Amino acid sequence: MVIKVIKCPSCGEVLELSDMYEGMEIQCSLCGLSMIVKGDELLVLDTNEVYSIESLAFEEEEEEEFEEEFEEEYYDYDYEE
Ligand SMILES: [Zn+2]
Repeated sequence: MVIKVIKCPSCGEVLELSDMYEGMEIQCSLCGLSMIVKGDELLVLDTNEVYSIESLAFEEEEEEEFEEEFEEEYYDYDYEE
């Protein structure tokens, strides 16, 4: 079972989508927005807006911290040369 974690396009609440939701109506637990998952896209029923699930993907903050640490190391090497 594939689970995708996305942010609600309306309120930013984190939602977990399993592939069992394909073609089914789902609701955001926070703002109640109704959505339907169609393949790689998310259709918002209230507004008829279509979002790509990739663009809504929830990214954990830990990844950003890792990138910052990497950049600091890079600059340190530069300075020594
Ligand atoms: Zn929401």
